[in-house]
Amino acid sequence: MFDRGEVFRKLALNVSRYSGLAALAKPLVGGIGAILMLHRVTAAPAKPLGINRHLSITPEFLDQAIEDMKSRGYQFVSMDETIDRIRSGHADEQFATITADDAYRDNLTEALPVFEKHGAPFTIYVAPGLIDGATDLWWDVLEDVVGARDRIDLLTPNGKTVIDASTPARKIEANQRLENYLTGEVPEEEQRVVLRDLARQAGVDFDLPRRETLMDWNEIRTIAGHPLATIGAHTVHHYNQRRLPADKVRQEMVDGARMLKDELGTAPRHFAYPYGYTAAVGPREVGIAREAGYTSAVTTRHGILRPEHAGHLHALPRISLNGRYQHIGHLRTMLSGITTPLANSGKVVVTV
Ligand SMILES: [Zn+2]
Repeated sequence: MFDRGEVFRKLALNVSRYSGLAALAKPLVGGIGAILMLHRVTAAPAKPLGINRHLSITPEFLDQAIEDMKSRGYQFVSMDETIDRIRSGHADEQFATITADDAYRDNLTEALPVFEKHGAPFTIYVAPGLIDGATDLWWDVLEDVVGARDRIDLLTPNGKTVIDASTPARKIEANQRLENYLTGEVPEEEQRVVLRDLARQAGVDFDLPRRETLMDWNEIRTIAGHPLATIGAHTVHHYNQRRLPADKVRQEMVDGARMLKDELGTAPRHFAYPYGYTAAVGPREVGIAREAGYTSAVTTRHGILRPEHAGHLHALPRISLNGRYQHIGHLRTMLSGITTPLANSGKVVVTV
């Protein structure tokens, strides 16, 4: 988590226009490679409201995407190799690496066969709190809550607010409003108290999405032992790091690595910031990730890799394979580099 798709909405409108420009612009905005970002990979249909549909692509699209990139000369490499190539300024062949956040079970059952078919290395970023249940998979719980009820009573410090969730459109609005409240007003460490109250009120099992869709430790150990796999860290509790005091950020980053080492026997070298957008990671977090000893850290900012990223290994952008826009043409356009400055106020080297 997370990529709400703002970049995609903006770019999707213009993609046909940009696709012709992409080849011309390549010398100006092209890069040395890309870090692809996935969450879920499944052929299963989305929930009826489709609120989190952006987080899920099909195995068929993953297969097509890798196939297409290979046919255009991309070499798929591990995250270690990615960092080596950035450091060496290696620009002879385009390269790509695949990352998947949050350890969804379908990464093992539906994505792994595709990775194996192509010999494509991948990194899965794991937050132990999500696996153990110390953190709820709140974005899925919230979708269940608004799906289950026509009205939702939200108790805030300012009193009770009644939220209309009587139609599909109202439910999507209600979800957005509750998400804004949970991620913007409620302190990170109290988020689950509010979420669980909402779930109880709606008769929703707040633990079900986690049990159904995330791997357990045995499954993570299984995939961690695969020769194509790298396991990366994703903090302990998947909090928005920017909303925490610095000592807590440090603790989340250090303890997250220690817990993975305890479970898997190997300390993670690579890290992904939870959420990864501007409001969740800035220069302070980048400094702490570096001090915590990680070799690299990725955000969810939209961008391809440039040689200049050798000086920004803890603020690497990614290219999201967004479930709402599963088109090869779109992917090609993004990989050309032309959308990088478009989505980042003209910046070609995207950091934080
Ligand atoms: Zn995440």
